[in-house]
Amino acid sequence: YTGKESEEVMTSKIRNILVSEVQSVPILIKEDTSIYEAVVKMFLEDVGTLYAIDNDKALAGVISRKDLLRGTMGGNDIEKTPVSVIMTRKPNITICYPNDLLIYAANQLIEKQIDSLPVVEEQDGIDQVIGRITKTTITRVFVNLME
Ligand code: ADP
Repeated sequence: YTGKESEEVMTSKIRNILVSEVQSVPILIKEDTSIYEAVVKMFLEDVGTLYAIDNDKALAGVISRKDLLRGTMGGNDIEKTPVSVIMTRKPNITICYPNDLLIYAANQLIEKQIDSLPVVEEQDGIDQVIGRITKTTITRVFVNLME
């Protein structure tokens, strides 16, 4: 390859990566989980974002580190207050699908200024969370392509 050709190969490789090929495992909690339990979960699982699901296991909310920090201020009883009070909820959640291009998901992270996107797949009429795309996902893909 000439320099230009190998650049084109690289670019088309990046453009064709699908969300499903690089997504990581989502950490899910029930929306009635207490803020306290959510903080513990976030530490134990070593993630920056938790996804809340309802009784039907459908995506109900996103809980970030800052949401939890906010939840611990303002005098809430964090052992009693559920995360549903502080989470970002539907219809304000930005999602992606397994067949979306990774470059689309990456653009969403930048545009919406968020750290992660839940990967959603409809199963039995319910929006199930089956994965997670994060800034770390994008960094890992970047490093793999360079190596
Ligand atoms: P942090 O709060 O730790 O900086 P984020 O930048 O991801 O993490 O979150 C900022 C805000 O955006 C939070 O209120 C969070 O609930 C919300 N948020 C995070 N991810 C999403 C998403 N995929 N869709 C909608 N809102 C989101």
